[in-house]
Amino acid sequence: MKLIMMGPPGAGKGTQAQMLAERFSCPHVSTGDMFREAVKKGSPMGTRAREYMDKGALIPDPIVIGMVEERIDQPDCRNGYILDGFPRTVAQAEALDTSLSRRGAAIDHVINVDVEDAEIVKRLAGRRTCRRCGWTCHVVFDPSKVVGVCDNCGGELFQRADDSEKTVQARLRVYKEQTTPLIQYYQQKGLLRSITGQGSINEIFNRIMEVVDQNHETTSGE
Ligand code: ADP
Ligand code: ADP
Ligand code: ZN
Repeated sequence: MKLIMMGPPGAGKGTQAQMLAERFSCPHVSTGDMFREAVKKGSPMGTRAREYMDKGALIPDPIVIGMVEERIDQPDCRNGYILDGFPRTVAQAEALDTSLSRRGAAIDHVINVDVEDAEIVKRLAGRRTCRRCGWTCHVVFDPSKVVGVCDNCGGELFQRADDSEKTVQARLRVYKEQTTPLIQYYQQKGLLRSITGQGSINEIFNRIMEVVDQNHETTSGE
């Protein structure tokens, strides 16, 4: 299964992508996690990426595209992957199309998760991320078993600098200007599945599984 998770920051893409990756036994490919990893390592790419991330701006397309192409060429991605946070611009989507068709592959569904701005602000304000493995939770809506400690690996939970109120507003603006054109892009390709991201984490997961199953039946005729 090859899925793209789309939606504004805080929509729940990462949360759902973690669950979907487990369900379909395929990698969760999060460009945000990959860039945070590069920042932590202090690599040259990480140093450049950080300048953009701290402002809530997008990292230049060539850097992002090269990194994703390299990742999806790894053997563990052969049977599918859940893309989370990529593509975020039309240029990224076009580059992905080109590299997929070169490999005779295609995206199955683009899941567009829709959440209101007021809810986004609440979700991002309470989001906590694991310093070691990138796992996320929410202090109120989806708390970790032990306060401040990652359920997944026992690492330390912290609040991302770009989840501050001011940077969130910048990221929302960037999303509306640069990423929403992708809704029409994927609609025209017949791949867009829009769902509401309001409701509990499990309700949203079930909604996604429903549209994936439904479209599977109608396109494969099984
Ligand atoms: P994204 O990857 O789209 O930025 P996340 O998956 O990191 O979003 O979710 C943002 C925050 O909201 C996290 O703290 C997460 O625990 C929380 N969250 C995710 N889904 C829901 C939901 N359905 N209801 C309430 N909080 C949620
Ligand atoms: P969120 O889940 O809250 O939407 P991400 O973790 O996906 O945020 O991304 C964090 C930051 O990493 C973005 O604000 C941006 O600076 C950078 N980034 C991640 N993915 C991309 C991408 N596809 N194109 C450009 N920049 C990206
Ligand atoms: Zn962890």
